[in-house]
Amino acid sequence: MSEQRDIHSDSHSDQHDRTGDQPGKHSFETLAIHAGNEADPATGAVVPPIHQVSTYKQDGVGGLRGGYEYSRSGNPTRTALEENLAALEGGRRGLAFASGMAAEDCLLRTLLAPGDHVVIPNDAYGGTFRLFSKVAERWGVQWSVADTSDPAAVRAAVRENTKAVWVETPSNPLLGITDIAAVAEVAGGAGLRLVVDNTFASPYLQQPLALGADVVVHSTTKYMGGHSDVVGGALVVRDPALGEELAFHQNAMGAVAGPFDSWLVLRGAKTLPVRMDRHNANAERITEMLTSHPRVAQVYYPGLPSHPGHETAAKQMRGFGGMVSFRVAGGEEAAVRVCERARLFTLGESLGGVESLIEHPGRMTHASTAGSQLEVPADLVRLSVGLEAAEDLLTDLRYALADG
Ligand SMILES: *Cc1c(COP(=O)(O)O)cnc(C)c1O
Repeated sequence: MSEQRDIHSDSHSDQHDRTGDQPGKHSFETLAIHAGNEADPATGAVVPPIHQVSTYKQDGVGGLRGGYEYSRSGNPTRTALEENLAALEGGRRGLAFASGMAAEDCLLRTLLAPGDHVVIPNDAYGGTFRLFSKVAERWGVQWSVADTSDPAAVRAAVRENTKAVWVETPSNPLLGITDIAAVAEVAGGAGLRLVVDNTFASPYLQQPLALGADVVVHSTTKYMGGHSDVVGGALVVRDPALGEELAFHQNAMGAVAGPFDSWLVLRGAKTLPVRMDRHNANAERITEMLTSHPRVAQVYYPGLPSHPGHETAAKQMRGFGGMVSFRVAGGEEAAVRVCERARLFTLGESLGGVESLIEHPGRMTHASTAGSQLEVPADLVRLSVGLEAAEDLLTDLRYALADG
């Protein structure tokens, strides 16, 4: 039995019962590199191969090797990623999808049926809001919005037919913080499932399952992949029965992660801890500059002591992340100009890659929330702070903010 196998079996241990930041016997950094990454039994290749294949030879009718039958139902490269994700989140089961939205769609159709109600946050990824308001609603799923940073507001939003509470922390794009343990108590007390979108934090900074969440959602497109070269999504759960149900729907609905995409995310996960440390450090430097800049009206970053969620973030995260939003004095046009003047910060949607990005949520990522309760301030700019030298990033931002 190899060392890797021992780590692998750890991913199915009772990690979620631990509250420390070291899941299982091995530290997070070790799991990031080894969980799911067993040397190839055929060749000894230390990196799992990309099994670019649709079907598998059977040893007699129904005689499956390792349970593989058809790649929608299961593929060894995807399995490697799913084991890695489960280990990093301290869950029992990980599932990899073609995108974050595919993961969310599978989840909502597993947890909710027509007539059911879900509480969603008043500050969330625009696509999540669109999925509930424009797609799920047509199929009879009811939703309402609550300020999830206030557990009492979540409790007040629960109805007779509520089945789940959906939380995103830190949230997109306002970096709001929800106390996961407090909301888990509200949800658990009412018999509801608690879903946490952990995309902004990544499992390195925050492990919602250990705090009482039932399901973790990821857009692996972001920090998990980390290199802006893949679109993917994931679900991780601690209840094996819910894991089975989700796996059934994943296969029935079919929006699985392909072998190459799975391999890219698995590779990205290995450097997640070192990348996140640098994202944190760079974001802190930039936040310092922004808070004292005369053209910046307000900075949203959970690492700032003035942030209303700072204490909660300090309690449930091991760092404050690489996302920073701020309002530009001078309104919408001024904010758009800052986005367009930046040179090193690339004007673009998405986040979590090695390169720094800048965007205007009101006209870009969050355009679909216009006129709704989730509408974002028009003078808001969002940064995904990358891994470049902090000095270069500061110079670029000062230039973009200069009124000339
Ligand atoms: C990007 C994102 C999603 C959606 O993921 P895709 O991979 O783009 O489908 C969901 N939640 C959050 C917080 C995101 O940033």
